[in-house]
Amino acid sequence: ERLVGSVADGEDQAVEAALRPKDLDEFIGQEKVREQLDLVLRAARARGATADHVLLSGAPGLGKTTLSMIIAAEMEAPIRITSGPAIQHAGDLAAILSSLQEGEVLFLDEIHRMSRPAEEMLYMAMEDFRVDVIVGKGPGATAIPLELPPFTLVGATTRAGLLPPPLRDRFGFTAHMEFYEPTELERVIHRSAGLLEVGIETDGAAEIAGRSRGTPRIANRLLRRVRDYAQVRADGVVTREIATAALAVYEVDGRGLDRLDRAVLEALIKLFGGGPVGLSTLAVAVGEERETVEEVAEPFLVREGLLARTPRGRVATPAAWTHLGLTPPGSRGT
Ligand code: ATP
Repeated sequence: ERLVGSVADGEDQAVEAALRPKDLDEFIGQEKVREQLDLVLRAARARGATADHVLLSGAPGLGKTTLSMIIAAEMEAPIRITSGPAIQHAGDLAAILSSLQEGEVLFLDEIHRMSRPAEEMLYMAMEDFRVDVIVGKGPGATAIPLELPPFTLVGATTRAGLLPPPLRDRFGFTAHMEFYEPTELERVIHRSAGLLEVGIETDGAAEIAGRSRGTPRIANRLLRRVRDYAQVRADGVVTREIATAALAVYEVDGRGLDRLDRAVLEALIKLFGGGPVGLSTLAVAVGEERETVEEVAEPFLVREGLLARTPRGRVATPAAWTHLGLTPPGSRGT
């Protein structure tokens, strides 16, 4: 697992519970989502009703699980957490749904990865709070309707576009989570440093924030590595110098690129004059699988405007040359 990977690793899972904001006021950034969700939840509370189903879309590590827990806390409701890949049979889903308490929040992570039959059962459950449990097999099979208590489904997906429209349409409210601004990540880092009892200076937090790829999970992870360094090689306080030195050890540069990201840009520029070059050729040049380059390195490089995918192949943008300390071809001699 990469230090700048956005999916949770074992260590993340162990510490994330302690770092999770507990209510909407504590949740940093995502102003629009927070305001909208606040209205949805307040209105439901005032009516004494169960909140509408909520769909959260966004990249890993932006706070979808955290928000689902906040929804439950704000509604003073219990929460059940499961994921699409864990529900392979409609029966798995029926078992979960039929054991929900009234008002309970059901958090379904990676909802786009549920099996088809489970998905169809979910349609009815979301709309009518009812499921048909099929008893028996073949021509003798019968559907026994089962009433469910009202519940709130919170679905999470990396892209809302991956969901079949009938499922998407059954959510009363959809929130798109954006990558965080560096100033928001600074606040996340200060908050986490407080909880972890790490001394940190404003500049130190800013340095880590700038390398965190817009993602709170990565910010918290980098903070932990910088804390280690500060403890072992300094007096424990995170300053800009300490953060810079620590992240140099882990090869995470000033913009959050790691060794793989830089290898891709360097190959593109130094071996192929900045491209265009085909993905397979580029992958061979960096000694990685095609998929690794395409799925692991490229999304962030494209987002940062360092690499472009064109019909003729991959191209390094002028910003990529500059980032590597090189002069982009067009500006030579000017
Ligand atoms: P995944 O899709 O991989 O499940 P996720 O989007 O559910 O990721 P979370 O697990 O909710 O992400 O968040 C990851 C970590 O980032 C948590 O430890 C949480 O404390 C922190 N975090 C996320 N969003 C915020 C925020 N807005 N303010 C403060 N901390 C946050």
